[in-house]
Amino acid sequence: MPPARSAGTDCDVLIVGYGPVGQMLTIMLARYGYRVSVAERWAEAYPRPRAVHYDDEIARVFAAAGVGEEVAAISQPSGEYDWRNADGRTLLHFDWSSAGPGGWPAANMFSQPRLEAVLAAKAESFPTVGVQRGWQASVIEDCGDHVVTMARDAPGAEHLIRARYVVGCDGANSFVREHMGTGLTDLGFFYDWLILDVIPHSEREWRPFNLQMCDPRRPTTVVSGGPGRRRWEFMRLPGETIEELNNERTAWRLLEPWNLTPGNADLERHTVYTFQARWADRWREGRILIAGDAAHLMPPFAGQGMCSGIRDAANLAWKLDLVLSGRSSDRLLDTYTSERSAHIQNAIGMSVELGNVICLTDPAAVAARDEIMLKAGGRPERALPPIPPPVLGPGVLSTSADGSPVGVAGQLSPQGRIASASGAVGRFDQVLGTGFVVASTVDLSPVLTSELRASLERIGAQVVRFVEPGPAVEPGTAVQNGTAAGAGPEKVAVDVDGFYLPWLREAGHEVIVVRPDFYFFGAVPAAAGLPALLAELLTKMDLIREPVAG
Ligand SMILES: Cc1cc2nc3c(=O)[nH]c(=O)nc-3n(C[C@H](O)[C@H](O)[C@H](O)COP(=O)(O)OP(=O)(O)OC[C@H]3O[C@@H](n4cnc5c(N)ncnc54)[C@H](O)[C@@H]3O)c2cc1C
Repeated sequence: MPPARSAGTDCDVLIVGYGPVGQMLTIMLARYGYRVSVAERWAEAYPRPRAVHYDDEIARVFAAAGVGEEVAAISQPSGEYDWRNADGRTLLHFDWSSAGPGGWPAANMFSQPRLEAVLAAKAESFPTVGVQRGWQASVIEDCGDHVVTMARDAPGAEHLIRARYVVGCDGANSFVREHMGTGLTDLGFFYDWLILDVIPHSEREWRPFNLQMCDPRRPTTVVSGGPGRRRWEFMRLPGETIEELNNERTAWRLLEPWNLTPGNADLERHTVYTFQARWADRWREGRILIAGDAAHLMPPFAGQGMCSGIRDAANLAWKLDLVLSGRSSDRLLDTYTSERSAHIQNAIGMSVELGNVICLTDPAAVAARDEIMLKAGGRPERALPPIPPPVLGPGVLSTSADGSPVGVAGQLSPQGRIASASGAVGRFDQVLGTGFVVASTVDLSPVLTSELRASLERIGAQVVRFVEPGPAVEPGTAVQNGTAAGAGPEKVAVDVDGFYLPWLREAGHEVIVVRPDFYFFGAVPAAAGLPALLAELLTKMDLIREPVAG
């Protein structure tokens, strides 16, 4: 009997793969009101921890997606992160103990299955989201004005899903990427590591809280795995087989020096991963796109693999919104590859350079490393080779005539606390909402023509003026959670901590324009330059003119 075939499911976006990147993209698109279908190969959520760290930018993205408090509740701040040699001397020191520029703790430790449970609950709370677990996408066809995907369930029944766009968030061995036929750039970084997740039976003080032991006898990672959990990673040594390494007996033997035994801890799992560094050359082909591990892989030493995938989702979501709603042409989606694949070079570069520090076993290379790093006093910016800056590549950015970004364009914007005119106090995003933001230190009404205002309204931009605290505004209610979306007339943002106004003055910006993914489109030193900056923005967004009535 031929396998059963179900009638087509219509949706705006089909997401293939329901790891953290697919989940975040689902939430972001559902918040815009789109019908999102998800096909996930496994019937159950993947139960084993992988990622353990996310940064302040990603915390900000979680908050904008409406899960900031829930994710913070399952995370703990990372504090210090030390890299030490065989003698215990510090080669690199990262101080991640305070808030990062995104306004959230600079580094946060968590357990990936707990995060995925939070994200799944949020995604599935939207009536426009349908998640099919146990459906493996196996055939995909771009039909020009829509995409048809076939997914097979466990009993073998086939299901056709018709979508306006498909995004492959289907991990390292992405089927969607294979279908797109894109090339891969591979840095040839391959090391096998044994990953052990441990739940100690009692609380213990770990100092430093996160440690990399750059000991050539056994390079080792000892970090938090989120509240109540610890993670150990041990590199496979030359001559050692995976079978010798990946078993419980070896796991407990390697944990013994840390005073961990089956009597005082549970070994949640042991597994060997091959760390790699590579990225796809194209992240879009017509109506088919890829994000997350499907688009890039990196060793985990900087804790940036999942973070980078969530940046992809944040970059893609607002662009898909503009295209799906008919406001921008689909050329806007080409900027997804160009912006993100340039930016990812920072995360990959950092991860590989850190990998090159710890994965050394040759005594001469280790001695040379120690000499260089000890001389640099543990300061990563002096000890590590130059790494591409975390700036978006060509796309929706203000550029000069030669195409290079002007000033802050393409860089991540910082976030501080503000008070609204109604007295709500909190982080900017939670008090005023997210989306495009045109923020200034002066009154913009003289330069904002009615035509410009209409365009800003069309892209959901809000216009904000920062003011000093004063008697006119009495801060009151603290804003804890949720994102007040939407545009409107000028809003007042009281700079309660003196964060924005001194920074803007020092940087010489009278107006800044920030995109929904928190990256700067650009800035101008005087409000008179704003109309030209906004005209450039609208052109770069490939905004389709509204049909003129009559
Ligand atoms: C040891 C280790 C430590 C790490 N530490 C960190 C860290 O500290 N910080 C950090 O940011 N990152 C870290 N990472 C990386 C992070 O885990 C990944 O980048 C992240 O899980 C990628 O998410 P994703 O959603 O893109 O892919 P995945 O989580 O791999 O999800 C892909 C999903 O797609 C599904 N799928 C695949 N094919 C199909 C198909 N044909 N049809 C339907 N579904 C399909 C899979 O079943 C899977 O559920 C670490 C990784 C490892 C291995």
